[in-house]
Amino acid sequence: MPQCQIFTAAEIDLFRKSGAILRGCLEYLAPKAVAGSTTLELDRLAEEFIRSKGGLPAFKGYKGFEHTLCTSVNEEVVHGIPGKRVLQDGDIISLDCGVVYEGIITDACLSVGVGTISPEAAKLLEVTKKALDAGVAAVRGGGRTGDISAAVQRVVESGGFTCVSALTGHGLGYTVHQYPDVPNIGKAGTGAMLPVGTAIAIEPIVTAGTDDDLSMGDDGWTLSMKDGALSAHFEHTIVVTEKGCEVVA
Ligand code: MG
Ligand code: MG
Repeated sequence: MPQCQIFTAAEIDLFRKSGAILRGCLEYLAPKAVAGSTTLELDRLAEEFIRSKGGLPAFKGYKGFEHTLCTSVNEEVVHGIPGKRVLQDGDIISLDCGVVYEGIITDACLSVGVGTISPEAAKLLEVTKKALDAGVAAVRGGGRTGDISAAVQRVVESGGFTCVSALTGHGLGYTVHQYPDVPNIGKAGTGAMLPVGTAIAIEPIVTAGTDDDLSMGDDGWTLSMKDGALSAHFEHTIVVTEKGCEVVA
């Protein structure tokens, strides 16, 4: 049976430092996702920010990915490649980023609206963020990944939206993705046990449609909703504690 990696106090301190750079980066970027900017400009700003704080972009070079950010716009769900696309008023964009600091990787994402967005898009962002908060609140040492899955699923479905079932959160540490998977659909009390001192990324990925089929772009990375529905993505990296967790990014 695979087991969750347990980190030392010194390593957990590195998660905090890695996460502080990542949080700072996303806070810096969010207001820069404005109409007229390109996704490649956001990527450049993210890389400069991370390096200026002594970190390294965790996604750059991962399985051949060449950028610091994943920028997924509207019906694009995850792994959008930064490029010449110019953001338009009314778009929503997810900014997914990873930082390495002294070997320790943190992974976080937020979705923002560009200019004035539709009420449906605004609700999708709000519900997805709330689902992340509910997932984080469901963590405790000795609990199960399914506790998180059930909390996320409940908020998403009661908000009238659909979790994209093929995409999950994950363990992380010295690698970007490791055991366990943290699904966004499931039952409390099931799934992998989360020991105190392990680290996971919790990341609800949600579509405004009812169908969660994905299609792969010609670039070999970008996953989009097949039906063209809007999607949103929020993510934190957390370290499991006895009574709950510490959000590090
Ligand atoms: Mg991520
Ligand atoms: Mg992740």
